[in-house]
Amino acid sequence: MSTPCGDPDLVIVGGGPAGCAAALMAASLGLRSVLIESNDIGGRLQVIGALANVPGDWADGPSLANAVARDIQRIQESGHCKVVKDRAVAVSADGQSASVTLNSGSVVTGDAVIAATGVSSVTPAEADWISAAASLDPAPLWRARPTDLKGRTCVLGGDRPLGTWLRAHPDVQRQLLVVHPVGDDYKVAEVQHDSRAQLRRARHVTVNPAPGGGYIVDVEAVNGSTAAYACDTLLTNIGSRPAVLSGLTTDGGGYCPPESQGPRIATAGDLRSARFQRIVTAQGSGAQAVLSCYYSTALRVAA
Ligand SMILES: Cc1cc2nc3c(=O)[nH]c(=O)nc-3n(C[C@H](O)[C@H](O)[C@H](O)COP(=O)(O)OP(=O)(O)OC[C@H]3O[C@@H](n4cnc5c(N)ncnc54)[C@H](O)[C@@H]3O)c2cc1C
Repeated sequence: MSTPCGDPDLVIVGGGPAGCAAALMAASLGLRSVLIESNDIGGRLQVIGALANVPGDWADGPSLANAVARDIQRIQESGHCKVVKDRAVAVSADGQSASVTLNSGSVVTGDAVIAATGVSSVTPAEADWISAAASLDPAPLWRARPTDLKGRTCVLGGDRPLGTWLRAHPDVQRQLLVVHPVGDDYKVAEVQHDSRAQLRRARHVTVNPAPGGGYIVDVEAVNGSTAAYACDTLLTNIGSRPAVLSGLTTDGGGYCPPESQGPRIATAGDLRSARFQRIVTAQGSGAQAVLSCYYSTALRVAA
């Protein structure tokens, strides 16, 4: 068993808004943290084309991600944080300490672990309301540029990036046929007055390639009626599932509520629940997780 960077007070997994807020709060309390991130600092901020609900007049996610990365750099230079680029696979805790096992085989041990791994995208083949060949792998809506939309465009799923995309491209006049399950009703509510989004509530959808190119999208509506739509561009916006680490406790929906975790293990950000997936709630929950640890007996500095 090896620890790549000494003996931190906190081990934080995930360098998105939640994990970075946790690292910054820890540093402000004089705690030392190891921040494990398999990718770039910023998490899903990197893919947000327009921001309207984060204080500070941020135009888009990458701008905010860059600012957060500078904050993390600052606390690295002050010796309060070390960023380890690796994939975490498991967490564990006993009465004395908490540990994270990395893909590389290393184990990082501290007084407490905060898991903030967010969510990962669901593919059409994984969605039970869609029948499609396993090889069907359309591009995600959030990555689409207006020039990528050729002819009639169909979007599978009504996840929140729909609203973000429409806000990011106010000048695009093209209409999007958005086919979504009833479970997405609360998400598409924010775009119901945007005439560019043609919303279709579906019980089931079957997608096949069209003989001359493009796709045929067969929609079975909630009332049992059926309709077939030919489209030239197909995009996915199906949603996501929690990025759960082995050792975390999940609820019925597969998420990891903080209150269900064992001693010395906390969760923050999108990983907690399907309903509170926003940047500022992720940041708040990351900071709160640190304070909860700090005021418990888990951290030796607070003992
Ligand atoms: C297209 C799109 C648009 C959005 N628009 C908005 C918006 O306008 N306003 C808003 O408030 N919210 C928006 N959101 C939601 C917002 O991005 C999330 O709520 C927020 O990023 C959640 O932060 P997080 O830290 O919990 O998770 P994430 O940002 O997902 O960060 C998790 C991090 O953990 C890392 N990670 C995952 N697993 C591991 C592992 N095993 N080991 C190591 N690292 C790991 C990931 O690489 C990632 O960097 C949008 C999301 C998307 C996808």
